[in-house]
Amino acid sequence: MRHLVVIGAGFGALTTAHALRKRDLDAEITIVAPTPSFLYYPSLVWVPSGMRKPDDLRVDVRDFLARNRIGYHQGTVQAITDGGRTVVTDQGRLSNDGLVVASGGRFLRQIPGIDNVLTVCQGGPSAQAIGERIAAMDGGRIALGFAGNPKHKPAMRGGAMFELLFCIDTQLRRAGKRENFELTFFTPNPRPGQRLGERAVQGLLDRLEKLGVTPHLGHPIERFEPDKVVTKGGEIPSDLTIFMPGMTGPAFLDDSELPVTESGHVPVDERAKVDGLEAVYAVGDAAAFPGPSWQAKQAHAADIQGATAAANLIDERKGDVPDHTVRHEIICILDSLDKGVFVFRNDRMQIATPPLTIGHWAKVALEKVYLLQYAPSPLARLRDRPAQPAEQTA
Ligand SMILES: Cc1cc2nc3c(=O)[nH]c(=O)nc-3n(C[C@H](O)[C@H](O)[C@H](O)COP(=O)(O)OP(=O)(O)OC[C@H]3O[C@@H](n4cnc5c(N)ncnc54)[C@H](O)[C@@H]3O)c2cc1C
Repeated sequence: MRHLVVIGAGFGALTTAHALRKRDLDAEITIVAPTPSFLYYPSLVWVPSGMRKPDDLRVDVRDFLARNRIGYHQGTVQAITDGGRTVVTDQGRLSNDGLVVASGGRFLRQIPGIDNVLTVCQGGPSAQAIGERIAAMDGGRIALGFAGNPKHKPAMRGGAMFELLFCIDTQLRRAGKRENFELTFFTPNPRPGQRLGERAVQGLLDRLEKLGVTPHLGHPIERFEPDKVVTKGGEIPSDLTIFMPGMTGPAFLDDSELPVTESGHVPVDERAKVDGLEAVYAVGDAAAFPGPSWQAKQAHAADIQGATAAANLIDERKGDVPDHTVRHEIICILDSLDKGVFVFRNDRMQIATPPLTIGHWAKVALEKVYLLQYAPSPLARLRDRPAQPAEQTA
């Protein structure tokens, strides 16, 4: 029997494993991850305001895996050897006939003084810590920004940071203390949000102005200090700095027999297939795809890539030519706790709506539907102990 292994339990990994099962009813399928739980990152921006608690966004996936006859190997991958055929974890080795790497990304932490910032990307507890800091402040200066990976432009989270800024602005207005705060948005990029389309960029910049947020754009970041951000274009005084660093690929690539890009990602072609290796694929934030420069690293992209990788892996193992290619597309909603800007982009179209109440409720509905597919049944909830949450790395 074929043994297909998927690394990770996030967006790309669960979509891949599910699609593998739908296409091959007989294969043995195993996912490898430190915990059997899924974290829904897009709603982390709601944690600082208290609209969501970290536990609302984490789902124990053991029942989902059992329902789909997908095995679970608890462990952290440390290396991939034998041209992809062996996965070395801290809990033993797994041999496989087909492999999909979907282990997400990691932060670049090389900017001096990075420990002086809070970042929402590290998971629920860090998003909650941002909320606690803001709740304890009656006024002051908040600097909020992001940077990228200069060697791989899509490896950044600009959209999420705009969203977090809008949510914090609403949170402060609701608490009646917005006028006591100076908000500054900073990034080395002179025109942030370009991946979402030119119309979206202008809309975002206009919105900053309307909300009274000071932009500090186009200046490389030199260092973070406890009370300021120092950039090549001047200093930003700050009582609370919230920052999203650029991203790189998985740490285990250093010890693996997989190709690695300069940016630290797994290079793949349009089929999600790793160059030069048999039956090895990579998807999501761990991978570097060719394709349009605007294609952002997103959960939606990880899902599309996971379904494509699964189709190709099954074809390749059957002896057919794997010729499914990924669809390039961005879909997101930039929320502000009460309204959402809907953004869509593909090769033919660029849509960015004004902030709409229905946009907010669409984001709420998407979250519910997405989490429901992996949620344990009521019986499983009673049967299984809660999975131990662990910080993830995106
Ligand atoms: C605050 C925030 C808001 C966002 N908003 C949106 C949005 O609105 N829309 C959108 O489309 N995207 C959004 N994103 C981006 C999206 O969450 C990521 O692009 C997506 O999670 C990438 O999926 P992935 O499967 O590649 O990685 P992940 O979802 O990060 O999953 C990686 C998995 O691999 C596991 N893993 C890591 N290392 C190892 C290892 N060594 N061994 C085994 N397992 C390992 C992890 O535990 C995890 O289960 C947002 C991200 C953030 C942080």
